[in-house]
Amino acid sequence: MLKKLAALSLSAAAVALAVYAAEDKPPAEKVELPKMKFDDVKEVAPGVFFRYSSISATDKAVPFGGSNNIWVVFKDYVVVVDANFPKEAEDVLAAIKKTTDKAVKYVFDTHHHGDHAWGNTTWAKAGAKVIGSKQCARLLKANGPDEWKKEQAKKDGRPDIKANELKQVDESFDEKLVLDDGTQRMEFHFFGHAHTAGDAMAYLPKHKILCTGDACVNGAFNFMGHSNSASWITVLTKAEKLDVKLICPGHGAVAGKDLLAKQRRYFEELRKFTQAGIDAKQDAKAIAGGLEMKWYREWTGVPAKDKLDNVDHVFQELTGKIDHSKLGWAPPPGGLTPVPATDVKAE
Ligand SMILES: [Zn+2]
Repeated sequence: MLKKLAALSLSAAAVALAVYAAEDKPPAEKVELPKMKFDDVKEVAPGVFFRYSSISATDKAVPFGGSNNIWVVFKDYVVVVDANFPKEAEDVLAAIKKTTDKAVKYVFDTHHHGDHAWGNTTWAKAGAKVIGSKQCARLLKANGPDEWKKEQAKKDGRPDIKANELKQVDESFDEKLVLDDGTQRMEFHFFGHAHTAGDAMAYLPKHKILCTGDACVNGAFNFMGHSNSASWITVLTKAEKLDVKLICPGHGAVAGKDLLAKQRRYFEELRKFTQAGIDAKQDAKAIAGGLEMKWYREWTGVPAKDKLDNVDHVFQELTGKIDHSKLGWAPPPGGLTPVPATDVKAE
């Protein structure tokens, strides 16, 4: 009996191997993913810390804690990925102080949206310089002051915005910027228009860690209003060429490298199904209603058909209604309205 069992389990293992081979995926580098609760901080590699900000696409009781944050402790200073909002930036700063007594020298805005860049003011007060891609700096300049004023004018607007002033990017880069002091190496890459025209990523080659901002998120957190979905796919393909084993996304839990492919698959299928719907003379709502993508629901907990805004954006792109170079711009004085002005929001 024992022998038989052993033989059985052996053949089961053989079947499992065969199935694995049939899928012909290169075996992803095994990586232990830390189990984290919201606001937890974990040292995911020597001197590299990840703070998991609260967010949920389904549970309204979960408060939005802004972007995730990563910080890297160099020999003499600290570099932070994403500024978050001013109030959350203070929480992050307090968390950093529990891990090191070195000062924050740079904060890197992955893009210009409020939950990633509006905390610049907090970091500047702590003595840090703000870095970002040229396009991120341009968009924060064009769009930020207006959005900031709007938030300040809101009755129920954020108190941390009312109490502060917008801080712009100090040092910007075109394609790549590198910080390397022999202990840590941090590369900032601009791969093109993705979630916004200014998205850049922070890559830590020694640790094979990629901090993606909102160019790659883990969950149903894609806001596409400022995106170029075709270029976004290209950007993710470029990121997939990096030697990576851990993704620290802009929102959602840390993940293995496969997250990049999942994120890419969403846009590829969204474009394919939307185009098929356009060819069949369907409108965006009808196209969204027909979206299956079971795998997306398994990944995010949200049915793809519930993300009507995303279908609508791709619909507008594929029917030539979007000028990608203008996405994220503030409406110029005089009323000429950049497209699309109705659903532009900071996320
Ligand atoms: Zn964003």
